[in-house]
Amino acid sequence: MMSSVSNNFKQLQEEMIQWRRLFHKYPEPAWCEFRTATFVAQSLKKWGFTVYMGQDLICDKRMNLPTQETLNKFYTQALERYDLDKELLEHTKGGYTAVAGVLNNGEGPVKVFRVDMDALPINESQLNDHYPVREKFASVHNGFMHACGHDAHTAIGLGLAKYLSTSKGSLQGKIIILFQPAEEGLGGMAAVVKHSIFEKVDEAYGFHVWANKEPNEFICGTYGQLASKKFDVEIKGKASHAALAPEKGINAMLPAAEIILSLERLKADFPSHIRLNIGQMQAGTARNIICPDALLKIETRAGDTITRDKLFNASIRIIEEITKKYACTCNINLVGEAESASSSIDLAKSIKQFVTDTGLFTHCTERELHNTYSEDFCTLMNHVQNTGGKAAFMGIGASNKAGTHHQTNFDIDEEVMMKMVSVLAELSMSK
Ligand SMILES: [Zn+2]
Ligand SMILES: [Zn+2]
Repeated sequence: MMSSVSNNFKQLQEEMIQWRRLFHKYPEPAWCEFRTATFVAQSLKKWGFTVYMGQDLICDKRMNLPTQETLNKFYTQALERYDLDKELLEHTKGGYTAVAGVLNNGEGPVKVFRVDMDALPINESQLNDHYPVREKFASVHNGFMHACGHDAHTAIGLGLAKYLSTSKGSLQGKIIILFQPAEEGLGGMAAVVKHSIFEKVDEAYGFHVWANKEPNEFICGTYGQLASKKFDVEIKGKASHAALAPEKGINAMLPAAEIILSLERLKADFPSHIRLNIGQMQAGTARNIICPDALLKIETRAGDTITRDKLFNASIRIIEEITKKYACTCNINLVGEAESASSSIDLAKSIKQFVTDTGLFTHCTERELHNTYSEDFCTLMNHVQNTGGKAAFMGIGASNKAGTHHQTNFDIDEEVMMKMVSVLAELSMSK
């Protein structure tokens, strides 16, 4: 089967490199993937896919939406593009940036392939030894960068779509390619997973390019990704003159400080693998005003969903007790959530067989422990497994000796895109 697949890949590889560089040059953060999503949707339409997008696909709360100002900024940038279908773009307005392409091939299994499209709020390296700078596709969106490889993921998703559109004769059942927004904040998958197209899925596949692994490595399945809950705590006190009437104010900074110290102590009650981090605090307006409000940005993570929830609930109890003690009120907003999940053992096994047969990799791991990050795909993985299907999260080595994930000089070996499409194409056609 491989030879028929590989002949068509040379030209596709060139196209994928162009797409990846286009996405890389114009990175869009979570829920602002207007330009990327529209480009994806119009391509899928052209290749004969049934397209679900915008509010026809997003059926649940979108967590961690950016400010209206950020949404407007990126939407306006997309509007200025002459090459985008304005009617399709309109569907994404307001941050409805999810797209799914469906290819119906009669009787057979339902298979979902998931890619993510969002970039990160990081300034890209401007140094000449950074390949995207040398090849003139470094980010032109100041402050934002594709520093995790989701540009390559989107290009791979498109590469798979284009390839499958020319190979309909070899397909059975239904193929769904999901281009999800907002993977990084863990808020994208929950907004689409309850859509009816994911109601009865037989196989779901997600993957990541890994800049810290060699291009000859392939991971067929993972387990142990950290379950996570990310939340904002808004504490409300009362402003007052710091000298004239301090007793009339309520200092919101005091409970904030005590919460930070108490949550730090809470860690000791949990297994050492848990993660609890207060990454940001904003408080106060001026030196001579009693601080009226404070904002804490917190995340909790654990190796399983039960421990994560225990940690989260214990944190919430502490936060509520302390704010009450200081006569403040607090608002807790969940802004991101991921479950822990494990790739289906027998699916990982059969992936290993396919991948080995391609001869493209010398190191192929069936299932690998991935307990140092969280992944939004886990939500779909659990959903599919809980409704009788199988799912796997794969990894492909993509090191080109540049920086690794979430670094300003992150980059990947673009050749791996073609290899990933060839694996995905095999999986779409497998019986
Ligand atoms: Zn990332
Ligand atoms: Zn990523």
